[in-house]
Amino acid sequence: MTNKILILPGDGIGPEVMQEVDKVIDWFNKNKDFKAETEYDLVGGASYDTNKTSISDSTMTLAKKADAILLGAVGGPKWDKVEYENRPEAGLLRLRKDLDLFANLRPATCFSALSGSSALKKEVIEDLDILIVRELTGGIYFGEPRGIEDLGNNNRRGINTQVYETWEIHRIAKVAFELARKRNNKVTSSEKRNVMESGLLWYEEVKRIHEDKYSDVQLEHMLADNCGMQLVRWPKQFDVIVTDNLFGDILSDVAAMLTGSLGMLPSASLGESEESIFKSALYEPVHGSAPDIAGKALANPIASILSFSMSLKYSFNRQEDSDLLEKAVSNVLNKGLRTKDISDGSKYISTNEMGESIIQELNNIS
Ligand code: NAD
Repeated sequence: MTNKILILPGDGIGPEVMQEVDKVIDWFNKNKDFKAETEYDLVGGASYDTNKTSISDSTMTLAKKADAILLGAVGGPKWDKVEYENRPEAGLLRLRKDLDLFANLRPATCFSALSGSSALKKEVIEDLDILIVRELTGGIYFGEPRGIEDLGNNNRRGINTQVYETWEIHRIAKVAFELARKRNNKVTSSEKRNVMESGLLWYEEVKRIHEDKYSDVQLEHMLADNCGMQLVRWPKQFDVIVTDNLFGDILSDVAAMLTGSLGMLPSASLGESEESIFKSALYEPVHGSAPDIAGKALANPIASILSFSMSLKYSFNRQEDSDLLEKAVSNVLNKGLRTKDISDGSKYISTNEMGESIIQELNNIS
């Protein structure tokens, strides 16, 4: 079966890092029984320059047909003055919304070669492997009513509404429990049930679906503020953390920084699944378009390459190939090869050289 991959390189360093991902896909096409057809299209500022919109309807049609979408990054100062609905980030939001990508997965994995570069002590983060599952399409970022009201007398009121329904909590909890079963079988559910009714509902509904369907998985509940503290105190106590959109936004950034550079962090945004294979999925590095280094061959392509590795696992059911790619990345790092962002600044290799080194390592170990 041929898998359809839509590649949306986007802006800034997006096209540079996606060029390296393309080489990796090509390697799997040539060396494994993995067959993927890749198609390229525009998103973000690049799309705005051509189509006057940050994602066109024809790109959305391709996105809906694709088995997986790999995105580089969007945005940059060139488009700072573009109207709100056409700004580069709007393309990304439309993809998430129209494909109903409600589950955002952010792994925080520490490669042993980089364990000295975290702000935390080596023993705290060495061999760390945790996964944050954030609800992405509900909660306070979307709840109504919202807005800013003028109350007169120079006084205004800002309003956002935190709202979750049972079905939204159940579907994200289900993703977390099913992923935990394939990992270390533990889920930590995080909310603020002590001060928020929506948090109490979250707690009760996660507990209910756990008792009904996932009692084989270890479940703990942790208040979100404590979860933030525990993440920097002893992150290895976690396996999978499931949480809402707002707390997930914050906790996933905290977890990300445990392991060092932005250039190393992949992510996945997933829709509904059938037998644990996600039918619509967007994979992208956590970093942005890095306009400060765009065009200078300094971008680290590993976050994007690891995002492709996540697609092997979650869209294409190829755990072994995903492990092989992660091993190749790890070996390259163990050999001391570094892009500038993860180097001590004295000796580093280019974006292209990092991509080539990973291909070389895939040849060595396969
Ligand atoms: P950024 O992630 O682009 O860059 C932050 C810093 O990290 C910069 O110094 C950059 O050089 C460095 N960096 C990022 N990725 C790197 C990589 N792969 N290799 C080496 N160094 C890397 O964040 P920013 O500067 O706040 O935003 C720049 C633009 O990107 C803005 O327009 C912003 O809106 C957009 N953005 C897009 C996304 C996305 O596409 N998902 C995410 C965040 C920011």
